[in-house]
Amino acid sequence: MKKKILAIVMTACIFVTAFVSTAFAAVNPEIDTEIPVKARFCPGAVIADDSLGEIVLIGNPSSYGWEIKIVGGDWIPYDGEPLDQYDDGALIRYFAANEAGVYAYSNECVISIAHNPIGSYKYDGMYHWRECSECNGQANKGAHTTLDEGMDDAAVKENICEVCGQQRTAQYTGLKAFFAWLMNLITTLFM
Ligand SMILES: [Zn+2]
Ligand SMILES: [Zn+2]
Repeated sequence: MKKKILAIVMTACIFVTAFVSTAFAAVNPEIDTEIPVKARFCPGAVIADDSLGEIVLIGNPSSYGWEIKIVGGDWIPYDGEPLDQYDDGALIRYFAANEAGVYAYSNECVISIAHNPIGSYKYDGMYHWRECSECNGQANKGAHTTLDEGMDDAAVKENICEVCGQQRTAQYTGLKAFFAWLMNLITTLFM
């Protein structure tokens, strides 16, 4: 009788041990998400966990997040800094790791850093730009440029910008006129 009880207890112990070790064994992490292979971010944007859709993690990883890599560089953890410094583009991927140091990675995504300009040019006295549909930032920003002499005499005379079609500032025109007058004066007086 005692032997029988002992046998039952031992068998029970074996089952419990087997069950407990299975339940608590470190499950290797997995990332059950396909991220896009190409994405664009505005300059100054940051990559959030859900920037490219919801990331689904399996295996309760102890650490996870984005990694970033410039062309010719190594993968480094992305620490949430604005993306301005990745003007030349970069690769990102999501990682998940457990305490045993087992890593899983998502597919890789090529990111480009640029605004998404919409509509026609806006301008002030000095610059023209197009507004970004996402962040209201100024895309394609540049100083007004005048048409080359001879291309369109009327436009040159009126200081029309060849990009946005607007007249350059009165101040600038005034300054230019002043220098023209000064040069003329110098030429008259000294030559
Ligand atoms: Zn933008
Ligand atoms: Zn312009």
